[in-house]
Amino acid sequence: MSDHEQHPADTGWHRWAPIGETLDSSGVLEGLSGMSVAAFGLQPLAPMLVPEKPRGGELDPSECGHCRPSEHTIWQDDEWRVSAGFAGPSGLPFIGAIAPRSHVRLEDAPIEVLAGLVPLLQRISEAGKAIPAVARVHFSRWNDGSARLHLWAYARPAGMMQGRGAILPFWEQCLPAMPDDMMRENLETVACALAAGGGEAFPNR
Ligand SMILES: [Zn+2]
Repeated sequence: MSDHEQHPADTGWHRWAPIGETLDSSGVLEGLSGMSVAAFGLQPLAPMLVPEKPRGGELDPSECGHCRPSEHTIWQDDEWRVSAGFAGPSGLPFIGAIAPRSHVRLEDAPIEVLAGLVPLLQRISEAGKAIPAVARVHFSRWNDGSARLHLWAYARPAGMMQGRGAILPFWEQCLPAMPDDMMRENLETVACALAAGGGEAFPNR
């Protein structure tokens, strides 16, 4: 057998995933501003109105719900926290939100806090890959919804060549939600792997 011979990935997530089915993307496309469902083409470039509406927590940080203690925090240390599962189970094996514990924007975050970010990304990447189904963990930072600095971690399933790169979040919204117990197991795996390097798993449980 050649070293390069390929076979279907065989993990709990892969056995559950609806491989071969055409997924329903209509809900996603309706939610994407500017996308038309029928043709999956672009609508005319819309007028760009300024000033933009303030983002969540932009005007009054005390109104920001994201900074309050949450049962969805799967790990935290003194500076950073990782949350997951707040919208129920995802389709991908793991999706996490990474944010400082204090309400800061990227523009004004203390350098001491920022200095901890890249080492944390390294740890989250390794923790995500502790889930057997995961090949790689990607990171994104958009910050159009909430003003406070936050990043997203997306775990790409092993062998999912269709999910390489920036299309992965789109696939995530089309995949069905995985079973609750599978999500719980995956979050336990990530949280315990992170806590093994410091900090606390599930601090608000
Ligand atoms: Zn906040």
